[in-house]
Amino acid sequence: MKFLPLDSEDQKLIEAAREVLRRNYRPIRHTVGAAVLCSSGRIYTGINIEACGYSPCAEPIAIGAAFAHGERDILAIVAVCKRGNEYPVLSPCGNCRQLLVDYAPEAMVIFNDNGKILKTQARNLLPGAYITDFDDG
Ligand SMILES: [Zn+2]
Repeated sequence: MKFLPLDSEDQKLIEAAREVLRRNYRPIRHTVGAAVLCSSGRIYTGINIEACGYSPCAEPIAIGAAFAHGERDILAIVAVCKRGNEYPVLSPCGNCRQLLVDYAPEAMVIFNDNGKILKTQARNLLPGAYITDFDDG
């Protein structure tokens, strides 16, 4: 698995995720922010939505926002949480890893590996992944 160090574009994406969480943080309800960079150069953000029974993560909300604006190619994604006044980078959960493999296997995922912030392609974070056949025709 190839892990890469972050560059200034990655820092910009992390800052976008932090900013959306700063603006919308609500204990329990909205505790994670995510940002995606698309091939257009635009960044889209999202927050998690905690609810009874179904609680979408911030990543699918951000990806959905990008797709709703006509984007199709996600180049990079990151999610952050809030710990006091800090907004540390998170690792995507298993569901989000599958989502990324389905929709953006080449996208760079910025993630937290025991306190070390790295990036790698989404497909590297889910070895032996189930490959969804969308049969788009
Ligand atoms: Zn998730």
